[in-house]
Amino acid sequence: MSGTNFTILKQCGHCDIMFEAQKRTTRFCSPRCASLNYKLRKRLELKKGIEAETKQTLRTKPKVNTISLELIKDKEFLNVKELAALFVCGKDTIYRMIKSNGINAVNLNKKLTRIRRKDIEQLFDNPKKQKPETLTVDNCYTMEQLIGRYGISRNTIYGYVTKHNIERIKENGITYYSKTDIDNLFKA
Ligand SMILES: [Zn+2]
Repeated sequence: MSGTNFTILKQCGHCDIMFEAQKRTTRFCSPRCASLNYKLRKRLELKKGIEAETKQTLRTKPKVNTISLELIKDKEFLNVKELAALFVCGKDTIYRMIKSNGINAVNLNKKLTRIRRKDIEQLFDNPKKQKPETLTVDNCYTMEQLIGRYGISRNTIYGYVTKHNIERIKENGITYYSKTDIDNLFKA
């Protein structure tokens, strides 16, 4: 036995048996254990990698689609992003509708605009229609007024009213014709 040739008692990193190692760095009892352990580690690393990737996907996925229609469908006030999701349109469309239709948007702070969803819903229901005018006696002409104003016969007026689908109301047996409709018709 030479003094330089020392051995160290170690436990195999793979099969756990105690063995005499020639070097301090030796971790396994045999090349076989070393190889098996290497393969095992590779497998575990691969699995870990896949798990990490999956976790990453799960974490980032909800970020992309944070809006749950289930959650917002009963809310009365929504932000622009939620409205866009609800109506399946771009945020720009919502902003445009708010602007061009004078929708009240409550600015809770710079980045938190809240819009009553009913207001937007109505716009989607009648996208082109202006606010419908409620006819009253005051914003209508009577037949007599029309005859006097435009100097045309009763029959001609009847003809126009029918042909152009002039809005009218009836009160106490008297028919009143929408001033807006009539004026637009004769203006043209
Ligand atoms: Zn071993």
